[in-house]
Amino acid sequence: MSSASHHKKDTTTTTTTNGSGEPSHEPHQHQASCTTHRPEDEWKHRAPYRVHDDAAASSSFPVKWRGQCHCGRVQYQLRRERPLAAKYCHCTTCQRLHGAPFQWAAIFEKDDIHFTHGHHDLGWYDPTEKSQTHHLPCKVQCAFCRTPIMDEGRNMILLFPTLIEGINTPEARKAFEAKCHMFYPQRVVDFNGDGVSKFAGLEGESDMLDDDGNVIKKKKRVQEEKKEKKDKDKDKEKEKEKADKHGD
Ligand SMILES: [Zn+2]
Ligand SMILES: [Zn+2]
Repeated sequence: MSSASHHKKDTTTTTTTNGSGEPSHEPHQHQASCTTHRPEDEWKHRAPYRVHDDAAASSSFPVKWRGQCHCGRVQYQLRRERPLAAKYCHCTTCQRLHGAPFQWAAIFEKDDIHFTHGHHDLGWYDPTEKSQTHHLPCKVQCAFCRTPIMDEGRNMILLFPTLIEGINTPEARKAFEAKCHMFYPQRVVDFNGDGVSKFAGLEGESDMLDDDGNVIKKKKRVQEEKKEKKDKDKDKEKEKEKADKHGD
């Protein structure tokens, strides 16, 4: 079933007669609906699809960026100035699903985004099961114009920055600068001399490559360095905590 038909059912109400003989408008209990609160629909009311109420939103959700799909039915706001990271993915799945030479994705927390119409007008595709159910991780699109919006993972979202207002400004280019190329051997375009690290697969979990795709660091060393960096960051954090305590 397509999500578009889901959406239609969401607003369907039937007129039934209650005990007093007066008609009451109740949605079908067995259908997907905003108002029936079936446990399997709970995700529609959680981040990233939870709709913020206006008063709370203005203080807790300072809008840094706005984005929308091609037809404008899907609109969102972002409260984080820069993504946690931005990456290019050259895998063949991304090439096919985006109809583009590669995917440009910016990682955000699910709480960083606010879809102004919640889950409405969105469609889902689970590339693993090849199904349209909301099963994580999945692709998220506008259900009407089919603009790809983001990949929704279990904890994070990978947002496609080309939908963002002002993304072609120097500030936005800097904020959303990609820090690596992933699945570089599957590429259909070369990136020679761009100074951005290249990986055979996922960043930090596969061989590191040069611009021509030759291995320059084996996966094992890449993973060791990743762990060393993590440990160092942890130590730094501990030291900072200590310093903060002394400051009291
Ligand atoms: Zn659209
Ligand atoms: Zn990919």
